[in-house]
Amino acid sequence: RVDVVTLGETMAMLRAPGIGLLRHAASLDVSTGGAETNLAIGLSRLGHRVAWIGRVGADEFGALICRTLAAEGVDCRAVEDPGAPTGLMIKSRRTEAVTRVNYYRRGSAGSRLCPRDVDPDLVTRSRLLYVSGITPALSADAREAVRYAIDVARAAGVPVCLSLNYRAALWGPEAFRAELTELVARADLVFAGEGEARLVVGGDTAEDVGRSLAALGPGQVLVTRGELGAVAVVEGEALVARAYPVRAVDPVGAGDAFAAGYLSGLLDGESVVDCLDRASLAGAFAVTVPGDWEGLPSRADLALLSAEDAVLR
Ligand code: ATP
Repeated sequence: RVDVVTLGETMAMLRAPGIGLLRHAASLDVSTGGAETNLAIGLSRLGHRVAWIGRVGADEFGALICRTLAAEGVDCRAVEDPGAPTGLMIKSRRTEAVTRVNYYRRGSAGSRLCPRDVDPDLVTRSRLLYVSGITPALSADAREAVRYAIDVARAAGVPVCLSLNYRAALWGPEAFRAELTELVARADLVFAGEGEARLVVGGDTAEDVGRSLAALGPGQVLVTRGELGAVAVVEGEALVARAYPVRAVDPVGAGDAFAAGYLSGLLDGESVVDCLDRASLAGAFAVTVPGDWEGLPSRADLALLSAEDAVLR
């Protein structure tokens, strides 16, 4: 049985190794990135069985994505689409503190995900379904694929986990609010950055925002606040989690890591407090390494942030 099934778009990522204008980068590092596969890799590293459904182009970047997921132990259910290229994202740092991501994804293979790509048996056999608010913005077909996966999961009693993941390059705040209000109402567990959550609901504090999201339906809402930590609203009760103090070099991917840590705890039957701790640890690991998922911890790594010795032999 699969622990978690997820679907969405993963792209090749080109990353400038230094700081400054992209035009002066003499070379770019090649990797991959996508919210759902970042989450899948995070869960796989923590020992869970994860499957990812998506589309890639019949090209080298598509092969890179499948190869990376296989190497990370993720069951890659990619449809190879000969009619469109694998999407691209380019990450650069204009200053030490500001990361910029440019997307080349319109019309990409990943954006052509459709309900036919979603294997209902795989969803039914999973313990959790994980979807993000990025996929419905990619195309009408991709939006239908998300709705179909949610329908199948709900009919089978498989809990639905949703990450808001607002992407301003894909749609405006009104369209996002309309779509995500519907999706949140059909989710059991919601992950949201505080800022993007405010695009969907109101509230003064992070706890208020979490309670407003929970009022739409989900029994568990996690509102993340970067280095300020996170607030959980679980079955009406609010809990606060502090972030681990680390030196952040790349903030992208922290939310996906946090979700992986939290769901890992949930799959292990841990208490909410322990799920939050694993989530915060995973989030802290993600920001200490350049790359969206490369820094994600294994189970053994989790203990390292409280290790007393700086050198382990
Ligand atoms: P992204 O969309 O870039 O993946 P996000 O905005 O969804 O990220 P954040 O709120 O930035 O997610 O971070 C999620 C969690 O990761 C935080 O709640 C915190 O536990 C951890 N985290 C993020 N940034 C830091 C940091 N600088 N130091 C320590 N922990 C961090």
